[in-house]
Amino acid sequence: MNAAFTTSNELQKMDPVFGQTSFDDHEQIVFCNDKDTGLKAIIGIHNSVMGPALGGTRMYNYSNEWEALNDVLRLSRGMTFKAAITGLNIGGGKAVIIGDPKTQKTPELMRKFGEFVHSLSGRYITAEDMGMETRDMDIVRDVTPYVTGISEERGGAGNPSPVTAYGVFMGMKAAAKRQFGSDNLSGKKVLVEGIGHVGETLVAYLVKEGAIVTIADINEQKLNEVAATYNTTIFRGEDLYAADVDIYAPCAMGATINNDTVYKIKAKVIAGAANNQLADENIHGAILQERGILYAPDFLINAGGIINVYAELAHYDKAEITRRTENIYDTTLEIFDFAIANKMTTHTAALTIAQNRINQRKIENSRR
Ligand code: NAD
Repeated sequence: MNAAFTTSNELQKMDPVFGQTSFDDHEQIVFCNDKDTGLKAIIGIHNSVMGPALGGTRMYNYSNEWEALNDVLRLSRGMTFKAAITGLNIGGGKAVIIGDPKTQKTPELMRKFGEFVHSLSGRYITAEDMGMETRDMDIVRDVTPYVTGISEERGGAGNPSPVTAYGVFMGMKAAAKRQFGSDNLSGKKVLVEGIGHVGETLVAYLVKEGAIVTIADINEQKLNEVAATYNTTIFRGEDLYAADVDIYAPCAMGATINNDTVYKIKAKVIAGAANNQLADENIHGAILQERGILYAPDFLINAGGIINVYAELAHYDKAEITRRTENIYDTTLEIFDFAIANKMTTHTAALTIAQNRINQRKIENSRR
């Protein structure tokens, strides 16, 4: 089934779970509720052919449960393909906690969430995503071993976000090489939308290389801080998506490339950290291609974080994390080549290669 972004009203008209647009043969969906702590969470295990499902937990103030379910379905599916395209022996999963991380996240709630993760006996391994911090994963670690992204003091690989940012930077450079003939981003106008954990570090890499960076965020205080630290410009125009830039880096929420924005985008490259950037991966991927905009598939170039947390399971060191993250540059170029050779969008190219690997592993598993 096509992973398309669907409005809340449309979602409510569908069958509750298996009939959702974003349901794509997910193996298991677990609804977690705890009255005492106020925990309402959904864990989605999309596919475990390549290994146990690994993926972060997002805490977000969803406007309703349909949105939360749709998000976990889309995000967990994305993790399956992210792991496969990156060559990691893990499957795809993700969790969402419904609520405002600023006001509703408590140690008790995180501990209870950890207990639910533990009850799955390792079929799902969690990590951090939006609204989560390394210290939250440390709390989860108190009740279950099935968590990654814990602090270095506790033997973990630490915060994955800087590694994610580095991988996005690598993917962006590969896209620039294809689109502009050079991977040097000096002088290139880059719009970074979302300057949180990943976006801010990406800004640092870009500024260091001499790119002309514009930033956008809903958090005014953060905007001012980052602008002052890195001497960047804050976007103050009417329409972010029509900004006159060379590269657009979505690093906030997904689905920002949608019916309202796709024809406005002036950037010639899209390369960012946000998961599920294309509201409809077929329709919007094809429109970008027709418009000559090179799209670096999100789940490919934002894999630095999963590489970092996977290191805790595979026991490889920082040098290996860096090597694998830098490899995103080569993989991105390979995907672009595959897309041209097979006359498909870059997104479909990445999905196809990932799916082929999963199919191959399924055959191998059945022979064991
Ligand atoms: P974060 O919560 O630290 O930062 C997100 C930022 O986006 C915040 O500053 C927030 O104010 C801003 N934001 C939210 N809504 C916005 C909007 N409508 N317009 C503009 N700004 C908005 O999250 P993060 O860890 O930096 O992750 C960013 C994105 O990258 C997410 O989509 C996440 O799923 C994805 N991602 C993150 C990692 C990681 O390692 N952290 C790995 C892979 C993918």
